[in-house]
Amino acid sequence: MSKSNSLRPGKHLLQIPGPTNIPDRVLRAMSYPTIDHRGPDFAEITKRVLDRIKSIFKTTQPVIMFPASGTGAWEAAIVNTLNPKDKILMFETGQFSFLWAEQAKKLSLEVDFVPGDWRHGADPKIVEQKLSQDKSHKIKAVLVLHNETATGVVSNISKIRKAMDSAKHPALLLVDTISSLASIDYRHDEWKVDVTVGGSQKGLLLPPGLSFNAISQKALDAHSRSTMQKAYWDWKPMLENNKNGFFPYTPATNLVFGLDEALNMLMEEGLENVFKRHTKLAEAARIAVKAWGLEILAKNPEEYSNTITAVLLPEGHDADNLRKIILDDYNMSLGMGLNKIKGKVFRIGHLGDFNELMLLGALAGVEMNGADVEDIVLLL
Ligand SMILES: *Cc1c(COP(=O)(O)O)cnc(C)c1O
Repeated sequence: MSKSNSLRPGKHLLQIPGPTNIPDRVLRAMSYPTIDHRGPDFAEITKRVLDRIKSIFKTTQPVIMFPASGTGAWEAAIVNTLNPKDKILMFETGQFSFLWAEQAKKLSLEVDFVPGDWRHGADPKIVEQKLSQDKSHKIKAVLVLHNETATGVVSNISKIRKAMDSAKHPALLLVDTISSLASIDYRHDEWKVDVTVGGSQKGLLLPPGLSFNAISQKALDAHSRSTMQKAYWDWKPMLENNKNGFFPYTPATNLVFGLDEALNMLMEEGLENVFKRHTKLAEAARIAVKAWGLEILAKNPEEYSNTITAVLLPEGHDADNLRKIILDDYNMSLGMGLNKIKGKVFRIGHLGDFNELMLLGALAGVEMNGADVEDIVLLL
């Protein structure tokens, strides 16, 4: 029986892979009065934020910030670098790769979508093979998700870069880091990524509403030749205005206040320590899943995600029912299985403002899952 209409004392546990729990410091920073986004105080904050966020992407190049969900920054990455009907290479790693590919098709691109089983990352060997075969350089870009949020699988961007280099192919590399940025080690410059797409609501400790494009010089060159229709997403007026701390249209002022504070927190902890914390907590989550006798959806331990674990239920069990019981009885939200894996998996988000005892609370919530799944309880 649903208890969702009655008072729920204590904290809700938001253990979906994003939006994530927002630290109180960030919530307070966002509650400052909104100020003039064309005034000197806001310009100062913008310059500080745009300068400091570079270190999160590990880049010295400009980072552009849109008032938009991550899907908007996907579109910006495409329309600023490519031309209508261009061919691109993508990998079916899960629901988010599928959605980005669908968006690319709607934007007129021809997508070579390498099929996958939703349990593996993008294969660098296939990247090398496809690009080596493409002698006339018809493929203009390779689009990869660093962390596929639907499955908890990480693709090795460094190896994909090496595969592109050994094929000596000029395609751009566009990478989605929406659910890995500021949680799993990522290096925009070192891996020669051309556009890195980020979002605010996962590892960046913020609510939804901001998204990012980190860009290379090669991407900027491609932008100057790109004939794709663009207006709202155009990098050019953004880069010109950002130099002075401004935007071509109204930015999400209070989210920028929040980002300033989120960057303070990430820097106080130290980005490398943030990665270590995520690694440790993710390993603990995986040990628990194995102790339950359940299977982790990601097949290859080298591709395990340190931000989210998708847990496969045995045949005959409904993961959505399990999630409903946990929400109704223990006030915890877990991520659902999307599309092909709906009802088959639940996902534990272990990212962002998260620590040991929050993880233990999340694991305890799964263990106290109620009557329908007694088989799982027996496996404990
Ligand atoms: C959440 C997510 C998205 C979608 O972002 P929205 O903010 O919902 O538009 C895209 N890619 C990945 C990897 C994500 O985790």
